[in-house]
Amino acid sequence: MSLATHTIAELRRLLDAKEVEAKDIIDSVLDAAEKQDDRIGGYLSWDREKAYADAAQAPEGPLQGIPIAIKDLINVKGHPCGCASKILTNYVAPYDATSIVNLREAGGIPLGRANMDEFAMGSSNENSGIKPAHNPWDLERIPGGSSGGSAAVVAANEAIAALGSDTGGSIRQPAAFCGCVGLKPSYGRVSRFGLTAYASSLDQIGPLTKTVEDAAILLGAISGSDPNDSTCLDESVPDYRGSLEGSIAGKKLGLPKEYFTEGIDPAIRSAVEAAAKQFESLGAEIVDVSMPHTEQAMGVYYIIATAEASANLARFDGVRYGHRSPEASNLAEQYAKSRAEGFGHEVKLRILLGTYVLSSGYYDAYYLRAQKLRTLIRQDFTNAFEQVDALLTPVSPAPPFKIGEKASDPLAMYLADIYTTSANLAGICGLSLPCGFMTPKDGAREVPIGMQLLGAPFAESTILQLGHHYEQATDWHTKQPALG
Ligand code: GLN
Repeated sequence: MSLATHTIAELRRLLDAKEVEAKDIIDSVLDAAEKQDDRIGGYLSWDREKAYADAAQAPEGPLQGIPIAIKDLINVKGHPCGCASKILTNYVAPYDATSIVNLREAGGIPLGRANMDEFAMGSSNENSGIKPAHNPWDLERIPGGSSGGSAAVVAANEAIAALGSDTGGSIRQPAAFCGCVGLKPSYGRVSRFGLTAYASSLDQIGPLTKTVEDAAILLGAISGSDPNDSTCLDESVPDYRGSLEGSIAGKKLGLPKEYFTEGIDPAIRSAVEAAAKQFESLGAEIVDVSMPHTEQAMGVYYIIATAEASANLARFDGVRYGHRSPEASNLAEQYAKSRAEGFGHEVKLRILLGTYVLSSGYYDAYYLRAQKLRTLIRQDFTNAFEQVDALLTPVSPAPPFKIGEKASDPLAMYLADIYTTSANLAGICGLSLPCGFMTPKDGAREVPIGMQLLGAPFAESTILQLGHHYEQATDWHTKQPALG
């Protein structure tokens, strides 16, 4: 078996026993990428020599010798950081994001730039300004988004693990579609300094991995307070890896009825219900709960996210970096043309929508109302976590669709986020992990099904522990796509 198929935890043992070296692992994942990534499109670029050089200097630590793919919106000094957008063509990061500083301090090697939807806006990776990414389980299908490249390279064994970002589901949904584990940390757990902002009150960086144990290891490495990000809380980082084993007997797991509505694919519903049974047999208690404002989450999310995006993306004007239109004859034209030429369709759509909901006359009707509803959504979670330790839900109501199928229907695409956006609005943590396989009605190949465990703010240990026990009792995570 190639080294690239191993987990961080397995490689740690092999590295410590001096049976392998970091270089062997880098070669193993990049040889796989060279062989097959032109079909998957998970990477925008990689640099083998830089990875060797970083490996040679890596300090001792839990990630020493482990190559980790980085979503193309997290700054890694000397690497491109184009956010899969034409407006940032040729932009090279001048500094390391804090999550990367932390990753390096743990010995990790930032490897390659993972494909994504442009500026993290999308659910399918089709909005990448560079190229689409494909699902390793069925190349005709989307890998999910916006961290589609991060999920695809982990699933296809072209990276041992990856970092992604999640504003409304962008780590959890692609992890579910590609059969890997994805964790959106609580707001304030991981520094966002050096993450290109999409919606600043929602964004978090988090791991995509092959197992829950690896997610615990990687989260432990990147977490922690940061004087450069005032939204990053000064909470100590627990030993996530160490807390996986403790018994889950007696833990209360809530099934929110609003997450099991009519629109959900029956195969997904029964996989998540079977997972609930599995948790019961592991000693957990299943409790029905209600979260009455769930239905509002999608609308609230698309108002708040676009409002914040319209402000955050104002900085891309062709003056300091990125694409500058050669056609402009004055400054106003330079702004307008650089942005018109550089941004893709979906990004423009969202800037317009965000500007609209913030404009005078509409602010109260849309933005202010959305903020009030956001408080009610957060209150739903506060109430639920008074009754239960965690919530169990599907990640997506439908399996990954075929590339191009929903391209002309943004609303259908937005519905892919129906179960994920509320966690970002509430600032809580969420873990996505495999819980089955299904063959979509319009397909011949099996694709993974994911489930979501939601935890209270800073209760990552609880959802990781639950996820780990489920994973130990099942073998979904051991299946590999047949890439031939
Ligand atoms: N799909 C959602 C959106 O398009 C979520 C994206 C994300 O989490 N970055 O906004």
